[in-house]
Amino acid sequence: MAKRKSRMPKLLPKKKMPKLDVIFKCPFCESNDAVTCSIDLKDHYGAANCVFCEARYSTTANHLTKPIDIYSEWIDKCHEVNKEAHVLSFELEDTADSASSII
Ligand SMILES: [Zn+2]
Repeated sequence: MAKRKSRMPKLLPKKKMPKLDVIFKCPFCESNDAVTCSIDLKDHYGAANCVFCEARYSTTANHLTKPIDIYSEWIDKCHEVNKEAHVLSFELEDTADSASSII
């Protein structure tokens, strides 16, 4: 009885998908690994903020939105602002409905 040589290909360890970056460089203070993004699918809300200078950006998000999308949108907005005015005046939409909620 001839033993059938099975030419099993060597089992390669499953290649891990490179993890998507979720920490980015801050466009304001230029710190690396400073900006984190969060996505709230319930409220369709995405936010990025810098842990160092507390720069923030918020936008709408859906289930296809990735942290990098929020970040790149932020960068785009920054470039737009910089084009329009050389002054760094970034008035970001505040999602808080009222700033005068003094109890
Ligand atoms: Zn920063």
